[in-house]
Amino acid sequence: MTLAYFLDGLRCSTCKTLNTLWLDPRRAAVECRECGQSALIFPEIGEARKEGCQ
Ligand SMILES: [Zn+2]
Repeated sequence: MTLAYFLDGLRCSTCKTLNTLWLDPRRAAVECRECGQSALIFPEIGEARKEGCQ
């Protein structure tokens, strides 16, 4: 079972390297293999969980 998916045709916004981004569905995050930059796909959902749905 594959837990990470490479994202073809996407460029890292930090290091500008093409095709180094992969999706980690467990964390709902996209991470760059080149520079380690990561970002949540749905940051608003992460915030809601953290803040306890104010
Ligand atoms: Zn990068």
